[in-house]
Amino acid sequence: MKYISTRGQSPALSFSEILLGGLAPDGGLYLPEHYPQFSGEELNAMRSMSYAELAFAILSRLIDDSDIPHDDLRALISRTYTAEVYAYARPGQNPADITPTLKLEDDLYLLSLSNGPTLAFKDMAMQLLGNLFEYVLNKTGQTTNILGATSGDTGSAAEYALRGKRGVRVFMLSPHQKMSRFQTAQMFSLQDENIFNIAVKGVFDDAQDMVKAVSNDHAFKALYKIGAVNSINWGRIAAQIVYYFKGYLAVTSDHQQRVSFTVPSGNFGNVCAGHIARMMGLPIDQLIVATNENDVLDEFFNSGRYAPRGAANTFHTSSPSMDISKASNFERFVYDLVGQDSAKVRELWAAVDTGGQFDLKAQGYFDRVPAFGFASGHSTHAHRMQTIRDTHARYGVTVDTHTADGLKVAQAYRKPGVPMLVLETALPAKFEDAIVEALGVKPERPAALQGLEDLPQKSTVMEVSVDAIKAFIVAHTS
Ligand SMILES: *Cc1c(COP(=O)(O)O)cnc(C)c1O
Repeated sequence: MKYISTRGQSPALSFSEILLGGLAPDGGLYLPEHYPQFSGEELNAMRSMSYAELAFAILSRLIDDSDIPHDDLRALISRTYTAEVYAYARPGQNPADITPTLKLEDDLYLLSLSNGPTLAFKDMAMQLLGNLFEYVLNKTGQTTNILGATSGDTGSAAEYALRGKRGVRVFMLSPHQKMSRFQTAQMFSLQDENIFNIAVKGVFDDAQDMVKAVSNDHAFKALYKIGAVNSINWGRIAAQIVYYFKGYLAVTSDHQQRVSFTVPSGNFGNVCAGHIARMMGLPIDQLIVATNENDVLDEFFNSGRYAPRGAANTFHTSSPSMDISKASNFERFVYDLVGQDSAKVRELWAAVDTGGQFDLKAQGYFDRVPAFGFASGHSTHAHRMQTIRDTHARYGVTVDTHTADGLKVAQAYRKPGVPMLVLETALPAKFEDAIVEALGVKPERPAALQGLEDLPQKSTVMEVSVDAIKAFIVAHTS
């Protein structure tokens, strides 16, 4: 399997060649040159598989044996998807399921994706990526310095996946004193020598701009082997495809049945994996994109107009991991929507990349959206508080704010006889303050994480300065 760019002007590369990179050289995103297909019989044969076996069945079709020998791939996957890594299942759920479902009522389920070390779905892909990185770097004798900016979830997931890994250092910038106490403690309590937490005296966008400036210094980037693990990384999308299959298999008994998924969305990475699962033959009825007040994606699915808003017009909400103004993975879906026409994608993103927008209704492509199963809705702070209260009262289940956005939006799209799976993208313990606001009590926290905030913390406070971060990297890589 080779990977090509959505913009059609980069050489085709193997999985391991694109693993450590971000954008393709032509500015596009990587996709497989074709989507492998799974038949109904193959789907039924998956029913007896463990999560790791299922992941191998799917990923071995996306990664050639000549690229990563399949025996090695199988071992990496088996080491990743264990009940020890994904330990925080709810009472009554089996941690060995890795992504267990939780039935709320007939045809309404949560798909629990947040039982990993940082209590958010990003652990599903990031843990595998950490093991793949270490494997590929050691095989080629390379090292990498991962540089990133985080408002909370991505940074912690990356650090827990890469801590202690040979050949990898992590420099993670976060806005000084702007993450939740829990998120701060999660990251800053890591004492591993290869993890560097840098608290930038500014907001998330300042940290993000510092990362961009370093990445745009091509000489520095090459000399210090700067890498990234942002949400456009193909390896992350690939790993996320697996749990759509797992969720489907958990609530069906035959491949004639269809299910729908509702996905709390920000950068479109999670739901993009659902789209690809559908393209690979998974019988998905609908893929519902749920946004919060930052509804740039909902606007597209309602009107055909994609109009990114810029950081200054991004609201800070109580589902902060979905506070985006521009959905960086959206280009992958649009590539398929316009018939895999890379010249068309180049034309559309020529507008987006210069601060503009595009309208696919005027151009006729928007009529194709229902055939891809997509629909959308958005939620507000009041909805999310009400949904947390209703879900608690009706089912005795506490959900986090992002999952609440999903549950709220899902209601409008339920169909009798078609199971609706709402993706649980974080556990409530991660967003305590919002749960206290909704329910008046703190959510339960896994026993292993009691007292997290009392552990000793390690971080470096830094001014908003590109020179300062460069000097820090120089000083800590020699
Ligand atoms: C990252 C994140 C999202 C958004 O996922 P995308 O892949 O960016 O669409 C939603 N909820 C939580 C809790 C997250 O951490």
